[in-house]
Amino acid sequence: MAPDRSIATRRDDVGSEDDVLSTALSQLERASALVDVDPTTLERLRHPSRVHRVMVPFERDDGSVEIATAYRAQHDGVRGPFKGGMRYHPGVTEAECIGLAMWMTWKCAVMDLPFGGAKGGVVVNPKALSEAETERLTRRLAQELRTVVGPEHDIPAPDMGTGSQEMAWFMDAYSMQQGETTPGVVTGKPPVIGGSYGREEAPGRSVAIVTREALDFYDRSLEGATVAVQGFGSVGANAARLLDEWGADVVAVSDVTGGVYDPDGLDISAIPTHQEEPEAVTRQGEGDEISNDELLTLDVDVLVPAAVGNVLTADNADEVGADLVVEGANGPTTAEADEILDERDVPVIPDIIANAGGVTVSYFEWLQDINRRSWSLERVREELETEMLAAWNAVAREVDGADDLTWRDATYVVALSRLAAAHDARGLWP
Ligand code: NAD
Repeated sequence: MAPDRSIATRRDDVGSEDDVLSTALSQLERASALVDVDPTTLERLRHPSRVHRVMVPFERDDGSVEIATAYRAQHDGVRGPFKGGMRYHPGVTEAECIGLAMWMTWKCAVMDLPFGGAKGGVVVNPKALSEAETERLTRRLAQELRTVVGPEHDIPAPDMGTGSQEMAWFMDAYSMQQGETTPGVVTGKPPVIGGSYGREEAPGRSVAIVTREALDFYDRSLEGATVAVQGFGSVGANAARLLDEWGADVVAVSDVTGGVYDPDGLDISAIPTHQEEPEAVTRQGEGDEISNDELLTLDVDVLVPAAVGNVLTADNADEVGADLVVEGANGPTTAEADEILDERDVPVIPDIIANAGGVTVSYFEWLQDINRRSWSLERVREELETEMLAAWNAVAREVDGADDLTWRDATYVVALSRLAAAHDARGLWP
């Protein structure tokens, strides 16, 4: 069969994020009932500040020219420049970018980072492009977005279908046009051109920190706590390895092909991550093979869904056997599942704090870039620990101080309160 060369085929693997805008809006409505927020500010937050749509012509290897559509949604800039990923995927839509940009606003606010939320994407199938085509697309994208991005305006980062190489090309093209090397225009770059040490491990590290703190909140010990992790990629594997290092028993992990389980604990260092060897979790002879569905219902202390969205649903939330769920992936729990888990007194620590180590170290990268001074890995880890504890304590205070507030609601209360206060302080320029 001929390889798929069409650049904008149907979305195939992220249908779960189709409805991201309505989810983001309903989470805002829920939080607004718990926070005293000015109605005008609330109405403002229901909409993005701006959405840019640009057409990106680029040359294919055979000399023909394709024109891809790209979006950049900038949600709320009251606390600082916009910040968020730039994805390459055939299913990218304007609504999805707006919803994901809103999530970035809440995530930056709960972490108290001086950024507002953005998200963008190119409607393109990156698997159908050669490296040279991807480079030409990325450079032209940087040119088309040049007037709306920048270290003080909007700072893109890698996302689905993009990585450090795309960020390097974007930074180079932007810098060429500006006439000066501007590393702070994007984050997630290779360290040799201003990327930060510790960026790759950061979302998994924050998941591990939050798991440790959540167990402590419930007077449970991390030492010997049993943990099941769905997804053994950047987020899941880094979280699993750190939790193992800190004394937890990681008893189950999985990838898209299935999982492995050993009630006495897996030798987690023997299992290759998605980045080391894709989809090899079940190939190493560790533990007994189980399905992803079984992993989600294991009787463990902590379940970390760290693969894809919408895996905990009304169909399986009743069977979740964990005492605590820590969301490593974005949006792994549906609203219905959230309610069921709440009724069953299973706390769910939400994605916007649990995996926020990624955007936090992106902030560190931006700081290093604009100050022209790089930090050691040790410093990045120490500062991440400090930021995570500050955010965790702010959310835990809300949970402590109210009857029956879920961790998700408490996290949104912290974020929305900060946004509302910033809007109040700046006021409305008539
Ligand atoms: P990754 O590609 O590095 O790894 C994903 C892992 O999940 C792989 O092991 C893959 O085999 C597995 N997987 C894929 N589909 C699966 C399925 N249907 N069932 C079970 N396993 C499946 O991805 P990642 O960067 O670790 O991202 C995972 C999640 O975390 C995504 O929701 C992503 O949006 C979110 N996230 C990532 C970052 C980051 O910087 N990497 C930051 C915040 C949030």
